[in-house]
Amino acid sequence: MKKQTKQRRTKKKTLKKQFERTLTVREGVTAYKPTPLVAAHWFRKLNQMLFNNRLSGVEIRIKKLHHDWGRCVADWDNRSCRKGTYNQRVIPFGKTDVYFYIELHSKYPKWKDFIETLAHEMVHLYQMQVMKDPYSNHNANFYAFVPKFKSVGLRLYR
Ligand SMILES: [Zn+2]
Repeated sequence: MKKQTKQRRTKKKTLKKQFERTLTVREGVTAYKPTPLVAAHWFRKLNQMLFNNRLSGVEIRIKKLHHDWGRCVADWDNRSCRKGTYNQRVIPFGKTDVYFYIELHSKYPKWKDFIETLAHEMVHLYQMQVMKDPYSNHNANFYAFVPKFKSVGLRLYR
C-alpha cells in the first residue's frame, strides 16, 4: 500500500515537471484554436494533476461563445422535476438525471488562456460531480483550488 502512494506521488511530480515545460514551450503560442481531441487530452492531464483523477470524462464542445471563454453546463429535463418540488435555481442532484458538459470558445489569445479556461471549467465540474454543490458558482469551494493551481503555474480567477 505504501509503495503505491509513493509511486503516485512520484508520478504527480513528473507530471508537474512536464507541465512546467509545456507552459514554457507554449509561451509564444497565440490565436490558439483548440480541437475536441486536444481538449480531451488536456482534460485527462489536468484531471491527474489537479483533481486526483476524480472527475469523470465529459463531452467538450468547441464553439463560438459570445459572453464567456468557457462554460460548464449542468443539463436536466425540467419535466422530470415538477415545479415546486425543488428550488429551480439550484442543481437538482438526486431528483433527476443531470448531464454535464463543458463548452470552450473556439479561439484564445494565448495557449495559456485555453488551458486556464479548461481548468477553470473543470473546477466547476468538480463542484458538480464530486462535491454535489447545488450552486457550483464562484464560491469558497471554487476558490479553494487557487493554491493547487498556483503550484502548477496556473491562475484561477472569475
Ligand atoms: Zn466560472
